[in-house]
Amino acid sequence: MRRKSLLYESKVEYGGWTINHVQGCGHGCRYPCYAMMLAKRTGRVKSYEEWCRPHVVENALELLDAELPRLAARIDSVHLCFTTDPFMYDADVEGPVAEVVDLTTRIIERLNERGIRVTTLTKGVYPDDFVERTRSLSPGNQYGLSVVSLGEAFRSQWEPGSAPLGARIASARRLAQAGQRTWASIEPYPTPNIDPSSENVEPLLEAIGFVDSVVFGRWNYSKLVSSFPESKGYYERIARRVASWCDSHGKTLHIKKGTPLSDRYFADVLGAGGDDADDRIARRRKVGADSLCAERRAS
Ligand code: SF4
Repeated sequence: MRRKSLLYESKVEYGGWTINHVQGCGHGCRYPCYAMMLAKRTGRVKSYEEWCRPHVVENALELLDAELPRLAARIDSVHLCFTTDPFMYDADVEGPVAEVVDLTTRIIERLNERGIRVTTLTKGVYPDDFVERTRSLSPGNQYGLSVVSLGEAFRSQWEPGSAPLGARIASARRLAQAGQRTWASIEPYPTPNIDPSSENVEPLLEAIGFVDSVVFGRWNYSKLVSSFPESKGYYERIARRVASWCDSHGKTLHIKKGTPLSDRYFADVLGAGGDDADDRIARRRKVGADSLCAERRAS
């Protein structure tokens, strides 16, 4: 498929300049996925099945090359993606969708060459060769993983085409070990009638303990959530525990609007991070290189 334009400014919370270079997403989340609902409403896809058969935007690089000379001076960073997944997983071959990852990588390179940072978010995996490649990309990039449960039963039911949780988390950890800035999106966080393990959020936080920052948000617009007794009190308890964990582990936290404590925990999680962040990146690059070497020695 081809498009007429690529870069746009998103109005969503913690939005900003965005690129969605794929239509559809093989992860097929059933929360439901708002991007799919929007695509259906605007007639771009007709069914869930069609949404799950993604198509890359064939002229994405052509559009980017045409738009950047005009827009680059106004753009500090670009987020990939709000309406698809830039490191999409193919559950049939149990690996990344090469065509999507290749286009994503080229887009990141093009933006970084212009001095524009990139933030990513995925329920797929960051391939090892991409992790290696990040060493030559901007140290201001931030690579995110989206995870709301450690339960594979939950994933199979609600995120059926996404990467297995162990592989998803491990690939983001490798990026952190390589000295890259990483973040986690814990949203939409389920109630216990959706995922019984959700009462205990700390194991999930420990599993993603390598990230620099966290975005937390409740599950919205679901009868399952509204039918859970005391869902407001439940989300307040969980938000407090997430905040307490982030405080004690030195993580930046942003709680999304509509979730308890959102007025107290507002952070520019995807922002540049300032000079301190640059120093930290330099330090972690060294630590990361050491630990990667240690891993290689052990294997
Ligand atoms: S990964 Fe994101 S874009 Fe893809 S189906 Fe799930 S919610 Fe939608």
